[in-house]
Amino acid sequence: MCLTGWRSGNSFGALMYLAQGILMPDYREQLDVLIVCPGCSLVGVATWEESGRGDRSRGSERNLLHLSAGFHAESEHTLSGDPVIVCENCNTIQKD
Ligand SMILES: [Zn+2]
Repeated sequence: MCLTGWRSGNSFGALMYLAQGILMPDYREQLDVLIVCPGCSLVGVATWEESGRGDRSRGSERNLLHLSAGFHAESEHTLSGDPVIVCENCNTIQKD
């Protein structure tokens, strides 16, 4: 019996599936987004507050309200205007 590869592959897939469910809000002001570090697979939650709702010409505007333990936000921003989120475990920046 060798379950090592099965476990890592499938639990990650399940998490991503879960994240897709969370990422489909029906216009809530606050939004919890599951984040997974691309470097060390640390899992956390980013809580965003949507702003500029209903005004698509302004693009996706949102404020980062809270990050779970293990991640922190930098003062820099990504191309889409979101704060850069960094893993404190391995210092990998979250992909936009
Ligand atoms: Zn990491």
